[in-house]
Amino acid sequence: MQITARDVSDGRAVALTITDGTISTIERPSATPSQWVAPALIDIQVNGYGGFDFNAPAPSAETACRAVVALREAGVGLCLPTVTTGGFGQTRRALRAIADACAQDAGIAHAVAGIHLEGPYISPLDGPRGAHPLAHVRPPDWDEFQLFQEAARGMIRLVTLAPELPGAIDLIERLTAQGILVALGHHAATAPEIDAAVRAGARLCTHLGNGAHAQLPRHPNYIWEQLGDDRLSAGFILDGHHLPPSVARSMLRAKGLTRSILVSDAIHVAGMPPGSAEFMGMRVELTPERRVNLAGTPYLAGSALALAEGIGNAVRFAGITLAEALRLATVNPAAMLGIDDQWGTLAPGRAADLLVFSWDDGEQVLHLDALLARGAVVYGELPA
Ligand SMILES: [Zn+2]
Repeated sequence: MQITARDVSDGRAVALTITDGTISTIERPSATPSQWVAPALIDIQVNGYGGFDFNAPAPSAETACRAVVALREAGVGLCLPTVTTGGFGQTRRALRAIADACAQDAGIAHAVAGIHLEGPYISPLDGPRGAHPLAHVRPPDWDEFQLFQEAARGMIRLVTLAPELPGAIDLIERLTAQGILVALGHHAATAPEIDAAVRAGARLCTHLGNGAHAQLPRHPNYIWEQLGDDRLSAGFILDGHHLPPSVARSMLRAKGLTRSILVSDAIHVAGMPPGSAEFMGMRVELTPERRVNLAGTPYLAGSALALAEGIGNAVRFAGITLAEALRLATVNPAAMLGIDDQWGTLAPGRAADLLVFSWDDGEQVLHLDALLARGAVVYGELPA
């Protein structure tokens, strides 16, 4: 099979030959196709999609599989299903369901890089806690984490926690020693606490600018402390609701194009019509403007963003190029996960996990035409 399209990195035509699911050769024809090709998108923070919830009240392998499959519609070829704060039993069931889904289906295992555990070791304060249920927020507990990792069959690869909690620095050191990435999020840490967390091994900020107080001292505060710290990469939710466009632009410029990672933080209402739904035992509302509110509060409860849509938003909000925006959802998350030798760029010998799309230069919107996983079309269709 051969795909001829424009390579995002330089705008020139590229012909990819795919053999046994792998890119075997890359040639440079003189044609000028209208469609574009890029590596499949990587989402390191996603709670569900298309009506399927990784945090469902009764989690199952089937639901987890269907969420991963539904994410293809958002251009996502690799993800970290994200399990958020819940009771011990609920969290274990959600982790086990994702691990079971991967054990049962090689295609799902290929599309899941690990699990992101967001909480329960986060700030109990209103604002930093976001929509996470107060009843289940608790201090770090290494023994409990071991039981979580056992239920996940070793698949927990990223943990979001609050570094100011008692025992957090010790937990960061232990997680880092096991090769698990640590992100700072849903916290209200001081500058010394953030510094101690980084020195203990933390490398990432979870959805920087969100999971924060509605009002903060203008400076110093924990957002500035993380924003300019080059030791920390950061995830950003560019749905237009979590960060106003001007804030997104300033944050991306401060964090830089090598340290910024686009995430969706989508919950299961993403890809669905507006309405009301349940998430983590709470009522959430998806508005016609595609904003997900925790019912009766001013708090956002995740997003309804398709990551592919976030590419166009990044271009419009931050004034960056299409190639730069795609980097934020391909190369950068792959590098953070330590898999940039396999994912995130087009090269011979790599699995053919590809995004084929049209780019509306006037509207600066990406229209997904097809997603390929290991050379097979798993969403949409290729041009005739
Ligand atoms: Zn969050």
